[in-house]
Amino acid sequence: MELWIATGNKGKLTEFKLLLNEIADLQVHHQGEIPSFTPRPEDGKTFLDNARIKAKTLRAVKNNVWVLGEDAGLEVEGLNGLPGIHSARYAGPKASDSENVAKLLKMMTLKPMNNRNAKFVATTVVYTPTGEEWVFTGEMKGKIATKPSGLHGFGYDPVFIPDGQTQTLAELGDGFKTQFSHRAQAIKAFLDKWRTTQ
Ligand code: IMP
Repeated sequence: MELWIATGNKGKLTEFKLLLNEIADLQVHHQGEIPSFTPRPEDGKTFLDNARIKAKTLRAVKNNVWVLGEDAGLEVEGLNGLPGIHSARYAGPKASDSENVAKLLKMMTLKPMNNRNAKFVATTVVYTPTGEEWVFTGEMKGKIATKPSGLHGFGYDPVFIPDGQTQTLAELGDGFKTQFSHRAQAIKAFLDKWRTTQ
């Protein structure tokens, strides 16, 4: 089975490969393998809009195979849900993960609040080889740490402490994320549905 993933994010790609490894004979490909591929701007208003934009753009050049697009982000209660769909570009259009984390921590010090509740959310759109659209979601609740810790993962992992844990995702590592993350939940739902087609 050939599955193309609409992402240019190396951290996400690593996690997708770990999560999908139960499909025997799976060949995972990604948009970076197509030299002429140009992603469309993620100008949707929701995670679903943007996941669809990603998957549809890749499907336009890769039809008759499985195509998967995911849009994910961090919603912080005390920041009215920000950075949300702007998570990848919170500190600017070309911001690095550490710049985004720095901006998040700064924003949290600007308001007198002790509410550090947050959640990661993911919406995943899959197109089957015949063009049927499947949509899956996942979320993981937790709290924003006061400073970054840990070396694993990507994005906001160094400042996200999942509920029931005392360490950040970047300290807990891939083993934890492949079981409990927002992305893991959405991909597990995909695998459940995929199994029914086999
Ligand atoms: P996307 O690739 O447009 O979906 O952007 C997602 C952004 O949200 C990433 O660049 C990260 O900043 C953040 N993000 C999404 N999922 C995760 C995660 O699992 N860990 C840490 N940050 C994440």
